[in-house]
Amino acid sequence: MTDDRNIVIVGGGFAGTTLARRLERLPLAGHRVVLVSEESTTTFHPMLAEVIGAAVFPEHVVAPIRQMLRTSRFVMGRVGAVDWQRRVVVASTLAGEHEIGFAHLVFAFGARADLDLVPGLAEHALPLKLVGDAIFIRNRVLQRVARIELESDRLLRRRLGHFVIVGGGFSGVEVAGQLADFLRGVRRYYPRVDDGELRVTLLESAGRLLSELPPSLGRTALASLMQRGVDVRLGTRVAAVDSAGVRLVDGTTLASETVVCTIGTRPNPLVERIGVALARGRIVTDADLSIPERNGAWAIGDCARIANGAAAADALGRTAAAAFAPPTAQFAVAEANALALNLAAHLAGRPTQPFRHVSKGAMATTGHLRGVAVLFGMRVSGLPAWLLWRAYYLLQMPTLGRKVRIWVEWTWAMFFAADITHLRFLRSYEADAPRRDASPPPATAPSANPITTH
Ligand SMILES: Cc1cc2nc3c(=O)[nH]c(=O)nc-3n(C[C@H](O)[C@H](O)[C@H](O)COP(=O)(O)OP(=O)(O)OC[C@H]3O[C@@H](n4cnc5c(N)ncnc54)[C@H](O)[C@@H]3O)c2cc1C
Repeated sequence: MTDDRNIVIVGGGFAGTTLARRLERLPLAGHRVVLVSEESTTTFHPMLAEVIGAAVFPEHVVAPIRQMLRTSRFVMGRVGAVDWQRRVVVASTLAGEHEIGFAHLVFAFGARADLDLVPGLAEHALPLKLVGDAIFIRNRVLQRVARIELESDRLLRRRLGHFVIVGGGFSGVEVAGQLADFLRGVRRYYPRVDDGELRVTLLESAGRLLSELPPSLGRTALASLMQRGVDVRLGTRVAAVDSAGVRLVDGTTLASETVVCTIGTRPNPLVERIGVALARGRIVTDADLSIPERNGAWAIGDCARIANGAAAADALGRTAAAAFAPPTAQFAVAEANALALNLAAHLAGRPTQPFRHVSKGAMATTGHLRGVAVLFGMRVSGLPAWLLWRAYYLLQMPTLGRKVRIWVEWTWAMFFAADITHLRFLRSYEADAPRRDASPPPATAPSANPITTH
């Protein structure tokens, strides 16, 4: 088959993989699907907080793209340019630069974490967007707790045991709940760490948590986190982050060695290199998800700015008419399904349809056995919301094998202690080299007190 029969999808996230899988089941008038993505796996972002809390292994919140596809071709490569005249995309691959011709081209390359929102964020805070970020944060937390045991300076110990999370949206709330439970669960393995030395603080600039959900569920989430000992500070804006901790707009400083940032995304730099119209850094699309003035080009997911044609109020009580689709996994999947039908219709010479999707709801966990959710307008909290969350994401996981592994892991975690394995990825030739994770000299003057044994 020649390349001019290719439907090339750039990006193997929620949008790209859903689209490829759906197209495999539709008549495509002799076209074939080629998915190009920079990683070999797709990441289930809503479960990243569970990796931090050691509720699941990192490998289980990613799925190999090759295993998700049946008839589509997968190319692991980072797309860097599009030549619209020759109708090829240029990807950097393991085997060098690779050109792939296309009849239709779909952009689904998502967005990146924004680390420029607050001074010092990029240098001193830990973003949460990739599975590597989640593994790094989990390892950092374990390193901090292990180091407290070896330090004798009281102020330094307190700073090492203070974990600050910036952002009280879904990710921030879930990370705070997971972390609070995780720290409580692992403390018994660190007998030289005192109860009051491990703290989690959640900072939110708005006057409430989870502004996507009705206020009553925001209050429920707040109560649930406070019950777990999380210090939630609403109406609190971060002015800067540095090596000593977080400086707030009101001049207060929170001493912390670990600041996790769950706010903000920025456009993927690729948007600037593909020669399409942008609005607020996202690709402008027509109602049917096609890109204006680029024949055979389409965009879906977080990289696209898509008008939602649904006329009715959605499950969150918002009127969705004329609104733009929010950057969520639920909408990315809905857009992918709609585009699959539009592509098949286009190839068959039938008219395409405008995108419309009514949100089914939203949910967040606030730690072990607790959550909040609104589904089809119904508000649920506590254990039922937590169970709903787990059931929903288990169903979303591709392949039966993966579903079973996660279910077993979740069940295992209900009865056994959290895993405190901290893999350093040490290789033999580094075994006698200086430790790469050795701590820099402390910001406060070290105490002359020797480490006391309890
Ligand atoms: C921590 C966190 C928690 C979240 N929780 C929720 C939640 O609970 N519910 C919800 O609905 N949404 C949630 N989201 C948002 C959701 O994950 C995104 O909206 C969704 O992933 C968007 O899907 P996408 O396919 O557009 O982008 P992505 O899933 O980000 O996929 C983009 C893909 O493109 C690839 N790519 C990027 N650049 C290139 C390139 N140049 N060449 C080739 N490939 C490229 C990337 O590697 C990636 O595979 C969360 C996000 C985060 C970060």
